[in-house]
Amino acid sequence: MMRVPFLDLKVQYAAIKEEVLPAIHAVLDNTAYVLGKPVSEFEAAFGREHGVQYCYGVSSGTDGNHMALWALGIGPGDEVLIPANTFIATAWGATLCGATPVFVDCEADSYNIDPRKVEAKITPRTKAIVAVHLYGQPADMDPLREIAQRRKIALVEDCAQSHLAEYKGKRTGGLSIASSFSFYPGKNLGAYGEGGAVATNDPELARKFKMIRDHGAEKKYWHEMYGHNYRMEGIQGAVLGVKFRHLPAWTEGRRKNAALYNARLKDIPGVVTPREMPYAKHVYHLYVIRAPRRDELQKHLDAQGIATGLHYPIPLHMQTAFKHLGYKEGDFPVTEKAAREILSLPMYPELSEEQITYVADKIREFYK
Ligand SMILES: *Cc1c(COP(=O)(O)O)cnc(C)c1O
Repeated sequence: MMRVPFLDLKVQYAAIKEEVLPAIHAVLDNTAYVLGKPVSEFEAAFGREHGVQYCYGVSSGTDGNHMALWALGIGPGDEVLIPANTFIATAWGATLCGATPVFVDCEADSYNIDPRKVEAKITPRTKAIVAVHLYGQPADMDPLREIAQRRKIALVEDCAQSHLAEYKGKRTGGLSIASSFSFYPGKNLGAYGEGGAVATNDPELARKFKMIRDHGAEKKYWHEMYGHNYRMEGIQGAVLGVKFRHLPAWTEGRRKNAALYNARLKDIPGVVTPREMPYAKHVYHLYVIRAPRRDELQKHLDAQGIATGLHYPIPLHMQTAFKHLGYKEGDFPVTEKAAREILSLPMYPELSEEQITYVADKIREFYK
């Protein structure tokens, strides 16, 4: 039996070990454990490649979600529109500001926030929309931007899954006033620990990012505003700087693997492969299919040595943590249906064609 892990970080580490260990050792030798040169060099490269002028390394994507809304002045009494179909950290950005997340249903094909369902959720308290580029596919930003501009609310991006993804030829992260990235180890660009980034083209917001990250001060011990410790560690900056040079090749590896899956799964009745939207360059952080009798299929694959995942099994409005918001089953039918049908197949750049063929064969076998 072949074993296909959901994600294999060991093969990637083995491939870059010779390159990444000296970079880590240099940080240890210089004792620049927090921020420092490797972090600022990585910030510059990462910002440049994402078409955004200001980029800051932070402690995690969740902290970046918080910073984006905090820097915009969002606080208690405000409402923030968040897709019901995302990882819960998107919503923590709002709750950590003391604001209320207001959920919006997703599109059946892209799984991203449905721009046609946004406007009905806007109230006089609404201050921002968070577009998540889920699974690595950009949300439909033009209609979202049009609504945000007309209704005078901020549009921000959660790019935790969309490093190097493109919307109409432009990279995510610079498509809105403020964006956040995650470098959690399993993301398309992962640190060797926690990490994230915030980005903006707005100089005033950039100044706030810098201050919030470091206790509300630009100058040490001169605290101009409330802040926190959201700094990136030096070792993570060094690791990310090395790994970022490989990201274009790794991204092409993911796209190639997605194409192989698409070809091998396309004629299995009932199985729906991911749709790359006409405006999108998808970077396949996750390869998510829809499958009849999903739970049984997942068990079958597990028994065949194939690890799969659910992203996400419980929509945000059905989470116990948000019970007090008063949502009920049926509020977001597209998201709820997806949660019952989706299955994430193994996806990482180093996945072999043999492994992909094996996974597809086992799925076909299940439906025979
Ligand atoms: C991973 C993730 C986050 C959180 O990032 P961390 O670095 O783990 O805090 C936020 N939003 C989405 C959509 C994510 O996938």
